[in-house]
Amino acid sequence: MREFDYVIVGGGSAGCVLAERLTASGRYSVLLLEAGPSDRRFWVRVPIGYGILFHQRAVNWMYSTEPEPHLDGREVYQPRGKVLGGSSSINALVYHRGQAGDYDDWAAAGNEGWGYERVAPVFDRLESPHPDTPDAPFLSVSDESADFHDLGGDFIDICAEGQLPAAMAARREGAGIGPYLTTTRNGMRCSSAVAFLRPAMRRPNLTIVTGAHVERIGFQGRRAISVTYRHRGASHTVRAGREILLAAGAIGSPQLLQVSGVGDAAHLRGLGIDVVLDQPQVGRHLQDHFGINYIFKANRKTLNDVFGSWHGRVMCGLDYLFRRRGPLALSVNQFGGLVKSSGSLARPDMQIYLNPLSYQSFHKGRRKLMRPDAFSGFIIGFNSCRPKSEGTVTIRSPHADEAPAIRANYLSHEDDRRDVVTMARVIERLQNTPRLKSLLADDPLTPLDRMDDDEVLADFQDRGGTVFHLCGTCRMGPDAATAVLDGRLRVHGIEGLRVCDAAAFPNITSANTNAPTMMLADRAAEMILEDAH
Ligand SMILES: Cc1cc2nc3c(=O)[nH]c(=O)nc-3n(C[C@H](O)[C@H](O)[C@H](O)COP(=O)(O)OP(=O)(O)OC[C@H]3O[C@@H](n4cnc5c(N)ncnc54)[C@H](O)[C@@H]3O)c2cc1C
Repeated sequence: MREFDYVIVGGGSAGCVLAERLTASGRYSVLLLEAGPSDRRFWVRVPIGYGILFHQRAVNWMYSTEPEPHLDGREVYQPRGKVLGGSSSINALVYHRGQAGDYDDWAAAGNEGWGYERVAPVFDRLESPHPDTPDAPFLSVSDESADFHDLGGDFIDICAEGQLPAAMAARREGAGIGPYLTTTRNGMRCSSAVAFLRPAMRRPNLTIVTGAHVERIGFQGRRAISVTYRHRGASHTVRAGREILLAAGAIGSPQLLQVSGVGDAAHLRGLGIDVVLDQPQVGRHLQDHFGINYIFKANRKTLNDVFGSWHGRVMCGLDYLFRRRGPLALSVNQFGGLVKSSGSLARPDMQIYLNPLSYQSFHKGRRKLMRPDAFSGFIIGFNSCRPKSEGTVTIRSPHADEAPAIRANYLSHEDDRRDVVTMARVIERLQNTPRLKSLLADDPLTPLDRMDDDEVLADFQDRGGTVFHLCGTCRMGPDAATAVLDGRLRVHGIEGLRVCDAAAFPNITSANTNAPTMMLADRAAEMILEDAH
């Protein structure tokens, strides 16, 4: 049986960072197993490919939740990357660290070494090449606002009229509205695989196997020692001399723990799985951002006019081919940020987006980004930063190739339902500004000022959708009765096994989760290397 010092399961946002950091010294052998294919695909590299990969089974797990009790039994589509780079290869490219307070909350929950003062330098390191080694792996966090749609300038004025802090300056963390930063480099997607894995691929101590679907972790007593995966129809088992590092994401990591015998003992026994550790917390505390888009008909051209016509598509295709610029090189989420829904709050509690295009079939399992609404339209959307509703990821079968049951329980917490109305009223304030009205060709499609609170909530329940920030299903915390991992991301009660991806978040961060996930993996690598000595 082949042996590696470290076996990383999942080559996504976190797995690629781990692979780079753990192989950098040349001292340790590392195997990275990824269920999906290579990311050398046209639509993975082109930023607007996001709209195409959204439903592409070759690179996407394409999960759905169970019928959601607080959404009238609606199932919510959940795309997840299944390709090198994971969800960072199919995501909407927005880069935001969140708020310092998010990480201070992690530390206050008993996770030493995760406060913002400690993790800010880790973000800095991710984002910038080392001055002495400019070729070192790093993530391009780009300000593409010079190419963003003109509506952005109007949006800044709309926010100012609506008493929200806004400026034409991109923000990488904290409060305020402006152009979003994106993970792009020279007009191409800069996923975790591009930023970290590609530069490390040449190292002789890194082995990468794509199309390797991990089926289970093997244990000797309470020590994780091996990983079994399926590759081209055959089963392979490899040994980990030092540690096994799960980076299969907020769905994949708890699923693999459960099929391997770490989970709720009664449930596992019911499926005929030998129990290694009775740990009912595995798969619990699933968190996500859940938001809504309000659509407006504009009296000027938006990206609908570009993507909605052959002429527009050809022109922006040529612009992209010759200059690597134009709408194909950008995220659809161009402006937004974190704000307070009420002046009395200590911290922002609401994230806002302005997209200079519109598409309506958000929640029906179809996102027709390249076939937008037939009128000139734009979107203003929002979600709550730190919703309290929690869900579960639970296996239905002992086989890793059968998708687990995902119950997000969106809006199950009363405070989240209250926040929907409060935050929608902030959007109503924006709707009523003279500046926004001056942009409209027609009344807003959702006339919030004519809707009572029950109608606002009912509309949100009917049309709301995930913002794709699943996390927390193997959360860290000092007490095994309430958390799966300790503060060094080791599975409580198990040796040789850590979870180092978005599943480990003790609490959801306020903004987009890709940056925090890569930071967490980088910090995890620091800890793993410290513990290796
Ligand atoms: C459509 C979409 C849009 C998003 N937009 C943004 C955005 O604009 N900005 C932002 O910050 N965040 C965004 N996110 C969220 C962000 O991308 C994720 O939070 C982040 O990528 C999670 O990283 P991860 O490493 O935990 O998981 P992933 O990146 O999903 O990686 C998990 C990897 O493990 C692999 N895997 C799973 N199970 C197995 C198995 N059994 N065997 C082998 N491999 C396995 C998967 O194939 C995958 O490659 C978006 C996500 C999606 C899906």
